[in-house]
Amino acid sequence: MVFLNGAFIKKIKASVSVMDRGFLFGDGVYEVIPVYQGKIFRLTEHLDRLQNSLDSTQITNPYSHDEWRTILTKLNSFSPELDQSLYLQVTRGADTQRKHNFDALTPTVYIEANPLTPKTKSQLKVGFSAITREDIRWHRCDIKSTSLLANILYAQEAKQDQVEEVILSRNHEITEGATSNVFILKDKTLFTHPADSNILSGITRDLVISSAKACKLNVQETSFSLSDIQRADGLWISSSTREIMPITLLDDQPINQGVIHSAWSCVYDCYQQLKND
Ligand code: PLP
Repeated sequence: MVFLNGAFIKKIKASVSVMDRGFLFGDGVYEVIPVYQGKIFRLTEHLDRLQNSLDSTQITNPYSHDEWRTILTKLNSFSPELDQSLYLQVTRGADTQRKHNFDALTPTVYIEANPLTPKTKSQLKVGFSAITREDIRWHRCDIKSTSLLANILYAQEAKQDQVEEVILSRNHEITEGATSNVFILKDKTLFTHPADSNILSGITRDLVISSAKACKLNVQETSFSLSDIQRADGLWISSSTREIMPITLLDDQPINQGVIHSAWSCVYDCYQQLKND
């Protein structure tokens, strides 16, 4: 079952107009929200970020927080899996003609739920590989937009190179991953790019920051360079579906000699605890 414009229907029956600006222009925004043990995780934070994306693009939010919660909870109940990933998107809606500028339209709302199987701690502990690339995206990465061409091209490169993620840099500063936020650990301090318009401020990023503080790490939201990564004691990426993933090989070079620092384990455990609260 999926949700489309007010109705719960079978996915196979779901269709939208070719005049939908989401189809024509990628004119829309989205969220990916995890559900653990049947409970939607950090829903308020995801809905607040959705509101930011909608405000920045002048798309009217069709629902209140309570209405979103009711819809998402109902969609969730159709699936037997306790752990799920909810994908929701709001596009500007369908117009009568294709034109770049827009009039007020009725937004199109689509939501689907998919089973979520986060990697276990022992699966994560093997460490993962990433590559670096120039950040060619626009300067409003704080908007979680469905226009994802650059991210798609990075994802394809990651697939071709058989790596987990592409880590991006702009003017020699690491911004984030193509689908994640990036952290380095150096001498008990965790560094991550400030939450400005050059990154998407991840919901998981905030939880990594609070978990790191609980693990007695200092946290600095300041940018760092590729050479800082090469000298770091640890490199991690975070996202709602990947959680906190250690990267041990970057551009074929080992990070911290390929050893995952014990701080990762503490922050990972702390994050798991938050999922149970
Ligand atoms: N940055 C980008 C570009 C992303 O696409 C994502 C998630 O998809 C994130 C960061 C992490 O966000 P979150 O932790 O809310 O999943």
